[in-house]
Amino acid sequence: MTEKSLTEVFCENYSEIKEKIAVAAEKSGRNAEDITLLAAVKTVSPELINFAVEQGISVIGDNRVQELISKEKEVTENVKKHFIGHLQTNKVKDIINRVSLIESVDSLRLAEAIGKQAEKHNKIMDILLEVNVGNEESKSGFAFDEIEENIEKISKIPFVKIRGLMAIPPICEDKDDNCKYFLKMRQLFIDIKAKNIDNVSMDILSMGMSDDYEAAVLCGSTEVRIGTLLFGRRNYSV
Ligand SMILES: *Cc1c(COP(=O)(O)O)cnc(C)c1O
Repeated sequence: MTEKSLTEVFCENYSEIKEKIAVAAEKSGRNAEDITLLAAVKTVSPELINFAVEQGISVIGDNRVQELISKEKEVTENVKKHFIGHLQTNKVKDIINRVSLIESVDSLRLAEAIGKQAEKHNKIMDILLEVNVGNEESKSGFAFDEIEENIEKISKIPFVKIRGLMAIPPICEDKDDNCKYFLKMRQLFIDIKAKNIDNVSMDILSMGMSDDYEAAVLCGSTEVRIGTLLFGRRNYSV
């Protein structure tokens, strides 16, 4: 048997994932179009990224500033770019004009830095606040209990607009445990939305990755971020 090419693997994975997202969306009372499939492209070659976009991927997510910049010239412009990784305040200036959404805002200080740079470029920067929903030491994000007070503060920063929440829940052996975290996030999302805070729109709930995206959609996610399952296992020996 011959080995499948990266593009063949992508096409098979992509159609399977789309189907599963559609089923989960329907089960949760929504349509497939209500769910954004973001392709997490760390270590993926520009050629394969461009192929993915030709097949229908409309949003890609980078988690390293350096990689985003180094691939920039070769990656098509016909795709939305989100930043999804931990971001240092001194790197904000490098991505402010390169992405349409920063999903990983994990401190008031970072939000302030984004506001400053956005003002320099005379743009409103859309952001999501990252929530450390499992209170894990290894993960960044606002503590669950601190999110509401921080939203009040960040919503007052000029040139920044809060569009929703992002979370990476703990890895759970048991799928029900996973849902516990996803549902906790959905409740927070709904509660904040109900407050109708000025400058906060709460229309994006970004949660779910390769191993848990179906559960995430069932629990109300509006955006899943998938890398490994779309592109195949990453090759770290680049
Ligand atoms: C890499 C990454 C993903 C995708 O993870 P996979 O397990 O490869 O699907 C999602 N979100 C963030 C923030 C990532 O860095």
